[in-house]
Amino acid sequence: MSAMKKLAVVGHPVAHSRSPAMQTAALAALGLGDEWRYEAIDVAPDGLERLVRELPERGFVGVNVTVPHKGAALAVADTLTETAREIGAANTLSFEGDAILAGNTDAEGLLEALPASPAGARALVLGAGGAARAVVWALLREGAAVEVWNRTTLRSRHLCEELGGRPVEDPLPTAYDLIVNSTAVGLHGEDPFDALPLSPAGFLAGQTVVDMVYGGEPTALLRAAGAAEATTVDGIEVLVRQGALSLQVWTGRQAPLAVMRAAARA
Ligand code: NAP
Repeated sequence: MSAMKKLAVVGHPVAHSRSPAMQTAALAALGLGDEWRYEAIDVAPDGLERLVRELPERGFVGVNVTVPHKGAALAVADTLTETAREIGAANTLSFEGDAILAGNTDAEGLLEALPASPAGARALVLGAGGAARAVVWALLREGAAVEVWNRTTLRSRHLCEELGGRPVEDPLPTAYDLIVNSTAVGLHGEDPFDALPLSPAGFLAGQTVVDMVYGGEPTALLRAAGAAEATTVDGIEVLVRQGALSLQVWTGRQAPLAVMRAAARA
């Protein structure tokens, strides 16, 4: 029998709590459950490089990398996909012998989670961290007009200088077709209407509102957007889509989306 092929998510426990169940269910549905295993590994930032270099010897063929390691993962890699290089962050590492290949499936995952192409849409992206970089890159590539707000304005200005888009300090939410919260606001129960330039009454039918933050229930942001009859996309759907794309990179198989969605939401 061939050796077990191991996969993992490496990062902060809050951010990776759903991936093992989701990926394990997918591997089982593909008939790969006896040969492949997916687990979670917590590591502090100063231990990431050492861990990643040890993993191939321990039988790992790839890992998802999450908060706060997505930038560091890029630096550890020998080869980058063009997407990861342009975004400046990696969420998917693949090990080929001793070589480490870094990719980013967050951007494509976000696009696949949207109900329609954002081409021509006026989009407001909130945040300037790793998730926001992938979102801005993806929306610009598809031809959206992107404005970026961040609590620390210097970071949104830098992001736009590097990737494109326009920094905005006082956005009018009703002026946008698409609003994406890619800040961490809500992850620890913060009130999004205190921390972000949004108000519960500031959503419209016809808008699409995405909250990259995921929890067990609709976030306060998505509840308000849904009440205004905006189309909502939650962070679990984005998680499922990026995870499915990573699984395809490692196994070469089409990922079972419905199985992954059910496991991620369980
Ligand atoms: P990050 O690099 O640490 O960036 C955090 C961002 O949140 C920054 O823009 C930061 O603003 C902002 N922020 C944090 N606390 C804030 C507050 N109290 N008020 C206003 N802004 C605040 O993190 P990340 O990797 O971009 O991840 C961001 C979120 O997206 C996380 O919740 C993560 O779990 C989620 N995410 C989800 C998926 C998915 O598949 N669903 C994928 C990737 C990320 P400053 O610059 O001012 O500090």
